[in-house]
Amino acid sequence: MSASLLEVCAWDAEDPLREVAARFVRPEGLIYLDGNSLGAAPVDAYGRLEAAVAGEWAQGLVRSWNGADWIGAPARIGAKIAHLIGARPSEVVVADSTSVNLFKLLVAALQRQAPRGVILSEPGEFPTDLYVAQGVAATLPGVSLRLLPAEELVAAIGADVGVVMLTHVHYRTGARRDMAAITQRAREAGALVIWDLSHSAGAVQVDLAGARAELAVGCGYKYLNGGPGAPAYLYVAERRQAELSSPLTGWMGHDDPFEFGDVYRPAAGMDRFLVGTPPMLSMLALECGVDQFEGVDMAAVEAKARRLCSLFIERVEDRCGGHGLQLITPCAPARRGGHVSFTHPDAYAIMQALIERGVIGDFRGPDVLRCGFAPLYTRFEDVWRAVEVLAEVLNTDAWRDPRYQTRARVT
Ligand SMILES: *Cc1c(COP(=O)(O)O)cnc(C)c1O
Repeated sequence: MSASLLEVCAWDAEDPLREVAARFVRPEGLIYLDGNSLGAAPVDAYGRLEAAVAGEWAQGLVRSWNGADWIGAPARIGAKIAHLIGARPSEVVVADSTSVNLFKLLVAALQRQAPRGVILSEPGEFPTDLYVAQGVAATLPGVSLRLLPAEELVAAIGADVGVVMLTHVHYRTGARRDMAAITQRAREAGALVIWDLSHSAGAVQVDLAGARAELAVGCGYKYLNGGPGAPAYLYVAERRQAELSSPLTGWMGHDDPFEFGDVYRPAAGMDRFLVGTPPMLSMLALECGVDQFEGVDMAAVEAKARRLCSLFIERVEDRCGGHGLQLITPCAPARRGGHVSFTHPDAYAIMQALIERGVIGDFRGPDVLRCGFAPLYTRFEDVWRAVEVLAEVLNTDAWRDPRYQTRARVT
């Protein structure tokens, strides 16, 4: 038998992160299980953005680049993110989107690795990652993308493979890869690995240094709560920074942008991966999101993520059996991240029915129901109640209503 409502409320009362939830806006009557698509808004975001607009922008104007240290934001926020992913402050910088950062790192890594021109990845990886790799392959002579299933991938890191590109936690299945083991195998075979941390940073414990990882990118608007379209970040281990140069050589990546010279000279350290002027309002919203991790022990985040996911799986198995839901997330807590997915042929309609009843998860085509459990603000009680709503939707066939069948532009 899975836990009762009384038991899970007791877990919430003893949760070491219980007070952190109050740092986020929790809309009335809503159970939000989609922090892995768009993180919740920090309560502080209102004040932070108001101060940024009314003070730093409206009054400070151009002086704020120095006066409010806007110019230092990419490195300053990068250092805060570094703390969450087991990196040194000087190894992470905030810039652009995950897609663009992946482009920069892929090209930089492949240029170092020439003539090893194969990018090795897996079918079914996050679309933008595969698309960017396809664009890189179409742009750089001698580069191609090879996709192999997870079971075969590690053994296939041969002498022609320059870069292995993988997500740490898979967006669809929630499976977590063994970062240390794969990084080591790649190193032995002479390849570099680019880890995409979009679905793991802030949700589980990530230890880039412990895994001896060298390159990574990640997203700011999911578990880091940076707001819609928040800037992303990239990580390069110190020992690799001088060897890699970005193909997008904009002025913010110059050694001295305000020298206004004609010739590009890459900055030392991570600044060389900057391109253009940072979008300051978005940067400050991201900083506010990242600041919500202040005082939070990432081991507690990891422990809570595991428990939230286990509770969801056990409750769904108890309450929603016989309706055709198939778990596609690994059962072993160490092998998954902070979200859980089930397939169902009518996943889209079921999710629409859930959303109308105040339980927000998401649908990932063609047939996946995905629920994310951001450990900072998801309570065990939320998980328990969400499964009750799911059971009601399935038991009453409520999802068959025609209004749940039409798809919106964003799913
Ligand atoms: C969310 C996500 C992205 C997002 O990329 P953007 O460029 O910010 O749109 C990229 N990769 C993965 C694995 C993601 O989960």
